[in-house]
Amino acid sequence: MHNNLQADLDNLEHLLSLTKDKALAYLNGLNNTPVSITGVQSTISINLPKDGIGLENTIKAFQEQHQNKIVAASGPRYWGYVVGGTTPASIAGDWLSTVFDQNPQGINGAGDISAIIELEAINWLIQLFGLPATFKGGFVTGATMSNFTCLAIARQWAGKQKNIDIAREGIKTEIKILTATPHSSSIKSLAMLGLGSSNVVIVKTAEGNREAIDIPDLEAKLIENKDFPIIVISSGGTVNTVDFDDMQAIAELQKRYTFYWHIDAAFGAFAACSEKYSHLLNGWQFADSITIDCHKWLNVPYDSAIYLVNEKHTALQLQTFQNSNAPYLGDPATNFSFLNFGPENSRRLRALPAWFALNAYGKNGFTWIVENNIALANQFAELLEKKNIFKLKAPVRLNVVCFSIDDEANRGDKLTQVLEKLKISGKLFITPTSYKGEPCLRAAFVNWRTTEEDVLIAIDELIKAS
Ligand SMILES: *Cc1c(COP(=O)(O)O)cnc(C)c1O
Repeated sequence: MHNNLQADLDNLEHLLSLTKDKALAYLNGLNNTPVSITGVQSTISINLPKDGIGLENTIKAFQEQHQNKIVAASGPRYWGYVVGGTTPASIAGDWLSTVFDQNPQGINGAGDISAIIELEAINWLIQLFGLPATFKGGFVTGATMSNFTCLAIARQWAGKQKNIDIAREGIKTEIKILTATPHSSSIKSLAMLGLGSSNVVIVKTAEGNREAIDIPDLEAKLIENKDFPIIVISSGGTVNTVDFDDMQAIAELQKRYTFYWHIDAAFGAFAACSEKYSHLLNGWQFADSITIDCHKWLNVPYDSAIYLVNEKHTALQLQTFQNSNAPYLGDPATNFSFLNFGPENSRRLRALPAWFALNAYGKNGFTWIVENNIALANQFAELLEKKNIFKLKAPVRLNVVCFSIDDEANRGDKLTQVLEKLKISGKLFITPTSYKGEPCLRAAFVNWRTTEEDVLIAIDELIKAS
């Protein structure tokens, strides 16, 4: 054995304990670690080590070279994009997933339990969201890959409407995609799937300050495009203002028109955890497929999301993802395996952090996280408006506050200046966006650690930066 490997193996307990100490120091310092850094060197010029220096020296080398530039992305004031944190249970599950190094594939004869653990985690998530057991699913890296997976099945469905097996024959038919305010990753998925982002038919948004789909216009476009197979992509929470399509109304349209209905509920799905907000999703149980991120509001580490697909599409799903040209991997029709059910072949036991978190905190734990985050978002919005410098651009419908500077003439410049100043102080991370054609800022509340004190710090930072 190579001498550094042998030495590390002999010293494993000490080395893992050192690693744990590093992790603990980071987590304990999370509230005071900057959320952004400036002046990062982008030159990459280190030579590959010849023999290496062993793990203990590597930990030291990392400390010296990079540790002080790791930002508090899982901390309580990282409000950019939609970034969740990491709970103790999800960290433990993630660590063990790495240590166990399993590859969840089949449930029959695969010789290990990992696929069952994944199915258990999916089953718990379905219960957490109050969805029917007719949904079947699995884990992928993020909502982008979940949208990709669901839209690949939608593509197979669309082909079937014209008696084409797209997985075998390729896309020999024009397919129309109807959507109002899709997430960029859905459009990217359409591009990756060869469906063509220009085949999207943009449906109007509902009257008023809304991002949700306009139902009469959707109906008109369903009629207009009735000669084509149609895929409808719904928003179960838009990123700017967390607006929800009227799921009940779309479910009604499904009774009269033929289309495949996919919902991107990457983080909006968690409204289902709260009795106060679950009505926003009424009717979503009738969708053909749903995308939900776990590394956002479930607060598990990257990279984790699930796809949920109605079991009536399982045959199409197997056609799309079958890996059966490798006979040693089994027949997909009789032998369930994630190999034939999703896009990846080998992957980590990504379900374990979610399994640990759901087991540790249960339904009520996540209801608390969701309701606490929503309460804090509202509190932040109220305080912000009182300061007369900022202006809300939309009502706070769930956990995102979309706001701007109350100075029309210099808005773009002022917002850039605010972001620059925030970046230097490193206490609050928020991201810019464009809403209804205007530059804005947004703050997303998805971290279980965030408190009222953080809201007050954030307001203070924004005032100082404006
Ligand atoms: C975050 C997000 C995505 C993309 O998710 P990744 O996990 O970054 O791949 C897709 N849709 C919505 C609505 C999102 O919020």
